[in-house]
Amino acid sequence: MAREGPLSVDTYMRVCLADPEHGYWRRQATIGADGDFITAPEISQVFGELIGSWAAVVWRGMGAPAPLRLVELGPGRGTLLRDALRAVRSVPQFLAAASVHLIEASAPLREAQRRALASFARSCGPAQPQELEPPAGRAANPAGSSRHAKATPHRQAWDEAGNDTFLLPPTSPRADPSRDGDRVAIAWHEAMREVPEGPAIVIANEFLDALPIRQLMFADGAWHERVVDWDAHGGLRFAVGPVTTLGTHMLEPVPGAILELRAGEEELFAALARRASPLVGLFIDYGPIEPATGDTLQAVQAHAWVDPLSRPGRADLTAHVAFARLADKARAAGLAADGPMTQAEFLGRLGAVERAARLMAANPNEAGAIEAGVKRLISPTGMGGLCKALAVRSRDLPRVVPFT
Ligand code: SAH
Repeated sequence: MAREGPLSVDTYMRVCLADPEHGYWRRQATIGADGDFITAPEISQVFGELIGSWAAVVWRGMGAPAPLRLVELGPGRGTLLRDALRAVRSVPQFLAAASVHLIEASAPLREAQRRALASFARSCGPAQPQELEPPAGRAANPAGSSRHAKATPHRQAWDEAGNDTFLLPPTSPRADPSRDGDRVAIAWHEAMREVPEGPAIVIANEFLDALPIRQLMFADGAWHERVVDWDAHGGLRFAVGPVTTLGTHMLEPVPGAILELRAGEEELFAALARRASPLVGLFIDYGPIEPATGDTLQAVQAHAWVDPLSRPGRADLTAHVAFARLADKARAAGLAADGPMTQAEFLGRLGAVERAARLMAANPNEAGAIEAGVKRLISPTGMGGLCKALAVRSRDLPRVVPFT
């Protein structure tokens, strides 16, 4: 990091994550067992499958529009969408209507997404902005697909066993994966505003937590910007920056109080609200439902917590999502909001336990791993309780499953 003087926390986060040379998003292998952190779709295929079935149900509730923009914000390794698309192969009308739009800032992750989704791609826009043509043969790269399958053997077993959906009764004979009709067009974009017009379903798992936050701190009788500054030994430290009044009415002025503001959420909801109806969005992330305050900036490297200032650009940096405020922000932007509810309740209502039971029966050798994965997703003391789900929708649409 250049010695530019004190940086606000959001600028510090942006530099650490997005710096074109040293930013975290330049790094390879950030997500997964061999990376820095693990996410729900990487733990169990049931997560993406349930969200795929959810999307097909929601699409029907929107009036089954065609075309449909199926958008994922921050798709990571593409695992969620891969499992989701496999789950909706039994709903060919949905696949025929859908085009897939991926919003991804990391070049290595765009490549991972391309590999993960290759067998679903009818046409593939360039994953990297500078590419004019998709590289020949890369979609069929066996090293790419087998590496992924090796990480989670039961996933491969299920791929081979084929797929059915329990949430939606099959509406036609099982689709043949080799037919073009089961494939979708896939395009990458820099931001939501680049996604072409039309009805949309937007999915975001652990995306909002990566959007930079500002931190305001009450000290010496006034609210100040919290900043990152150099200490006398050339290290980084938090310091009290300039006085500010922005947003401070939201919190009692108590010495040491910290208020976190994430403008990216307002910007995203404004972009969603600008689109014509119908639109439905699903946001899953970790953070409290009840209003909460305090410092939640955190850094993770190789599956361990580290000091957020100790490894700029080398550790993943995130902060909690304040779900109570998130729902208010969606409404203020002109959208309706359903939830939030815990991830355990969300997945439970979509049938996670039943789905796991069917998978276990079909793959008895993997039953232990399948059960452990789903338990991890719905455990009330783990991810099931920490992570929350919130749906947003155009105001003229009815409430979205399973928030009904
Ligand atoms: N949804 C995935 C990955 C979560 S990690 C999963 O559940 O496994 C966060 C993801 O968001 C990564 O893919 C990261 O590169 C991407 N990301 C973070 N901030 C972004 C931004 N501002 N624009 C686009 N992508 C972003």
